[in-house]
Amino acid sequence: MPKDYGLSIWGMDNFKIDGDFVVVNYKSTPSLLTITKDIRDRGYRGPILLRFSHLIKKQVDLLFNEFKRASSEFNYSGKFRAVFPLKVNQYPNFVNEITELSKEYNYGLEAGSKAELIIAMAKTPLGAPITVNGFKDKEMISLCFIAAKSGHDITVTIEGLNELETIIEVFREFKEKFSDLVTPNIGMRIRMHSSGVGAWAKSGGYSSKFGLTSTELLEACDMLDRVGLIDRFSMIHFHIGSQMEEIGPLKKALREAGNIYADLKNRGASGLSSINIGGGLAVEYSQTKRSENRNYSIVEFANDVIYLMQEISKNKGVKEPDIFTESGRFIAANHTVLIAPVLELFSQEYHEKSLRLKSKNPPLIEELYELYTTIDKKCAREYLHDAIDHLDSLLTLFDLGYIDLEDRSNTEILVNLIIKKSISLLVKDNSDELVRLQNKIQEKYLVNFSIFQSMPDFWGLGQEFPIMPISNLSKEATQAASIWDITCDSDGEIAYSAKSPLKLHDIDVQKEEYFLAFFLTGAYQEVLGMKHNLFTHPTEAVIKFNKDGDYYIDSILEAQNLVDILDDLDYDIGEIDKRLKSIIEDSKLINSEQKEILLGKLYLYLSENSYLKTIQANKV
Ligand SMILES: *Cc1c(COP(=O)(O)O)cnc(C)c1O
Repeated sequence: MPKDYGLSIWGMDNFKIDGDFVVVNYKSTPSLLTITKDIRDRGYRGPILLRFSHLIKKQVDLLFNEFKRASSEFNYSGKFRAVFPLKVNQYPNFVNEITELSKEYNYGLEAGSKAELIIAMAKTPLGAPITVNGFKDKEMISLCFIAAKSGHDITVTIEGLNELETIIEVFREFKEKFSDLVTPNIGMRIRMHSSGVGAWAKSGGYSSKFGLTSTELLEACDMLDRVGLIDRFSMIHFHIGSQMEEIGPLKKALREAGNIYADLKNRGASGLSSINIGGGLAVEYSQTKRSENRNYSIVEFANDVIYLMQEISKNKGVKEPDIFTESGRFIAANHTVLIAPVLELFSQEYHEKSLRLKSKNPPLIEELYELYTTIDKKCAREYLHDAIDHLDSLLTLFDLGYIDLEDRSNTEILVNLIIKKSISLLVKDNSDELVRLQNKIQEKYLVNFSIFQSMPDFWGLGQEFPIMPISNLSKEATQAASIWDITCDSDGEIAYSAKSPLKLHDIDVQKEEYFLAFFLTGAYQEVLGMKHNLFTHPTEAVIKFNKDGDYYIDSILEAQNLVDILDDLDYDIGEIDKRLKSIIEDSKLINSEQKEILLGKLYLYLSENSYLKTIQANKV
C-alpha cells in the first residue's frame, strides 16, 4: 500500500496529508483530528460519523455541471434532470442537506417503497422531479396520485403489466372524485437484453427481477391508448446495476434503450419525452493502483450518454430525449468519514518488559534470549529460522510437562520479538517467507466500532473501504495490521492482507490517542448497517464551513442510548426498569445508602449508548 494510504487514488482531492495529519482539503483545511477532538470535548465517546455538507454539494455540482458541459458541447436539445435514490441514504441529516443544497438544480428524489415515497413527497421541492420504482401495490400508486394532485412532478415507473392495471384502476377511482384529476407521469422499466456488470449484474438482462419485455412494452402502450392515458407515458427507464466498473455495458444499454424510446415515440407515444438511465456510476474505493476498480470518468460518462442519445434520435428522426439519472453511490459515498478510536494493540504484551526470565532457564530459552540480543542484519534470516524451530520444540516440551507456563510465556515473547526485529532488519527483502511471517506477527488493533453496523458491505460483499490513521503520518507505520471491531463475532475483523498490507503505527494507547478513519461509507452502509450485538448507528455530526472559511459543527445526533435500543426491539421498558430497580431495592444485602449509589450509576449507564467509553487509559 502506498505511503499516503492511496489517498491520491480514492481521495478525489477531498482530503490531504499535512505533516502528521489528514486535513479536509477545503477552506481553512481543519484536520480530522481537530474536528474529532472538538466533538469529543463535548463529551461524546465511541465512533463518530462525520458528515461533510460541502462534499455532498461537490458531487451534485459535478454531476450537473458535467452534463451541462456535455450538452452544450454536443448542442443537445434535451434537458438533463436527476433524482437521488433514497435507498442509498435515507438518514434525515443527509436528505435534509441534499435537498437544501441542490435547489438551484431542481434535483429530486427517487423512492422504491412507501416509506421512501413519503420522504420524497415531504422533502422534494415542488418543481423538482420524483420518480418511483420497485414493486407497488394499490396504496402506493394512490400515494403517487395524491402527490401529483398536490403539485409534485412525479413519475411512476411500472415494473410489470399488472402495475399498469392497478394504475388504471386507481385512475378511474380518483376520476370519480376529481373531475380535474392530475395524473402522475408513467414510466416503463425495460427488461434489457444487455446485461449489467459487477456484483449487481442481476439488475439488467433478461433474467432480471425488473422490467417489461418488448412484447409487454407494446401491450402496455395499447392499454394506455385504450383508456386515453397514452399521453401520460413519458419515460423509459433502465438500471443496469450498481458500481459499474466499465463503461462498455452502459453504452450497449444506452443503444438498446435509445432505440426503444425512438420506436415507441414513432409508434405514437406522444408524451414520451425522457430516458432515465438509472444509477450505477462507480466510486473508486481502492487503496492501491493495482486494484483500481473503475475504468472511466464522469466526463466520459456524460459524453457517452449525450452522444449516443443524440445519434439515435437523429437516425430515427425523433426529438432528443430529456435525460434523467438516478446515481446514488456517486453522490453520497464520499460525504461521510467514520472516525473510530483504537482501544488496544493486542501483541503489546509481547514486550521485553513482560519477560519473566528466571535465574536458571531451560537451555532453549537461554538460546532464544541470546538470538534476540545478538541478531543483526547479516544473521537475521538464519536467527529467524532458529527461533521458529525453537518455538516448535518449546511448545512440545510444554505439552509434555517439561517446562512451565512462565517458560512458555518467555518463549512466545522472545520469538515474537525476534521475528519483529528480523523483519525490520530485512525490510528490503520481499520474499514470500517474510510476507508469510508478517502475517504471523501482524498487530491486531482493537477498534471501537462495529463492522456490521458501519461497513455492512465489507461483511456481506467483501467491499473494501479506504482506511487510514488520522495522525502520526510523518512517522513510518511499521506494524502489519489487522483490525478487530468490538462485536463478539469473529467476522468483525478486517484481516491483514498480504496483497495490500495495511501498516499502522506502533503506538501506546495508554499514552496517546490514535484514531482510524474509514472513508467512503456514505452510500448504502448506514441503513444496511445492522444492530449485531446491539451496537447502533454511531453518533453523527454534520460539519459545515462558515463565510470566513472556518468549520463548525452544525448538529450532533448521539447514538441511541441503552433504553432506546431495547425499546426498538419492543421490550417492555417499564417492566425492565421496574425489575432492575426492585432487584436492588429489595436486596437484603445492600444498605440504603449503597442502594442510592447503585441506582444512580445504573440510571446514568442506561442513558448512554452501547459503544465502549473507557478503557485502561481512561481516554478512549
Ligand atoms: C439502486 C438504484 C439506483 C442507485 O444506484 P447507484 O449504484 O447507487 O447509483 C438507481 N436506480 C435504481 C432503480 C436503483 O434500484
